[in-house]
Order: sequence, then structure tokens, then C-alpha cells
Amino acid sequence: MAAILELKNVDAHYAGTQALFGVDCAVERGGVTTLLGANGAGKTTTLRAICGMVRRTGEIWFDGQRIDGKSTEDIVRMGIAHVPEGRGTFTNLTVQDNLNLAAHARRNRAEVARDEERVLGYFPRLKERLRQQAGTLSGGEQQMLAIARGLMLKPRLMLLDEPSFGLAPLVVREIFQIMQRINKEESVSIFLIEQNAALALELADDAYLIETGRVVMSGTAATLRDDDAIRRTYLGY
Ligand code: ATP
Repeated sequence: MAAILELKNVDAHYAGTQALFGVDCAVERGGVTTLLGANGAGKTTTLRAICGMVRRTGEIWFDGQRIDGKSTEDIVRMGIAHVPEGRGTFTNLTVQDNLNLAAHARRNRAEVARDEERVLGYFPRLKERLRQQAGTLSGGEQQMLAIARGLMLKPRLMLLDEPSFGLAPLVVREIFQIMQRINKEESVSIFLIEQNAALALELADDAYLIETGRVVMSGTAATLRDDDAIRRTYLGY
């Protein structure tokens, strides 16, 4: 399998602070890669660097093209959907309007309507709540809406920032099962950031560990799961 996304020697800076130091990582085409790390390690910043939302240097390649000089808008248009931390849905709009807005740049409305049907097929709970204000959805439903919005862009790669955050274990499991189906049935590659290392390593094919802005370990998810230090620090057994 060839990589659909590759970061080579990526540094990232916020005003006055360097948050990433020479990050190298890749997501295989059709695969799921997870980036693990403690609070403040640089996981969210890595996604922001991919999307052009933070000042960065180094090379970022998507599907054979360099994207590190492109605007966030162009990067999204190329087929990368970012489901941010905090979900980024419009809480005062309905579920339906959130989905429509995600597809506003697409001109073929009949195709958009078909996609909405297809996307809602993964999320029956949202289908039942199309006219409900997004802000009144449960946390799990809001996370589902955030993923559904990303899918409306017909992405080839989804960047998911802590989809399990603040959710009950059963809902988290449901969301992870849906992501697994999306990965297989839609051939969408996934770059997943998670604090819940056990779940992330179950879903992922490959994994990276980031500490204070540097990748310190990488390999198959199985390799990281079997590593003693990872087990002790991130899996808790
Ligand atoms: P968490 O799991 O807590 O979200 P993370 O691994 O996603 O953590 P980042 O949010 O990428 O970590 O943060 C990496 C470093 O960059 C931290 O030291 C953080 O304080 C710093 N940082 C993040 N966002 C900003 C910002 N907007 N301005 C300045 N520094 C920032």
C-alpha cells in the first residue's frame, strides 16, 4: 500500500512557541493510522499543520501532491475532511442545515441529496433528528453529526481529533464501529488522534506515538499494543 498522506520533517510554530519538531509520519491509502500521545504532546497541532491552520515548515504530501503551500480551503477541496476537537458543528442550526452547509460548495444538488441519504445510512439517530437544533443533540449525536458533515465533503482522507472526548463508553464504541464501516465501505483513509489508546489501537492498522512535539515510536498498531512502555503508560495494564 502506498501512503495517501505523508509528513516529512514537519515543524510547527505558534507565536513564539515551537510545538512540532521534525515530525515524520504517514497514512496508508485505505488504512487507519492513529497518533497517540499525552495532553499537550502535539496531536491537534499535527492535524492543524496538515490543514494549514498553523505556521509550519517541512513537506506534506497528499495523494502525490505537495499541500504544505496550499490554503486550508484548497486542502479541503482536494479531499481532506477535518473533524476538529470540540466538533465544530453549528449548534444553533438544525442537523439538516449543518449537513447542507458542509456540502454548500458542491454544485450538483441531486448528487448532494443522494450523498445525504448515504451518509445518514450510517447514522440512523441523526436521520430521526434532521429538524432538531444541533446544540440540543447529545454529545454522542453531536460527534456523529461532526463526522457526517465531514463525509458530506466526499473526502478521501478524514482527520479525526479525539472523537471519544467526553462520551460514555457505549457511545464511543458505536462511533468507532461506524468509523470502521466508513473506512471499509467508503474507502476513506483515516488519521485518528486519540487519548483512548486502547480503542484507537483496536481500530488502527498503524500507530505513532508523539511526545513533546516529536514522534518517538511508530509501527503497526499490534507492535505498539505489545510494547511494555506503551502498555504501562497509555493502556494502563
Ligand atoms: P490535547 O490532548 O490536550 O489536546 P495535543 O497533543 O493535541 O493535546 P496540542 O494541542 O497540539 O496538543 O498542543 C501542543 C503544544 O502547543 C502545547 O504545548 C500547547 O500549549 C501549544 N499550543 C496549542 N495551541 C496553541 C495556540 N493556539 N497558541 C499557542 N500555543 C499553543
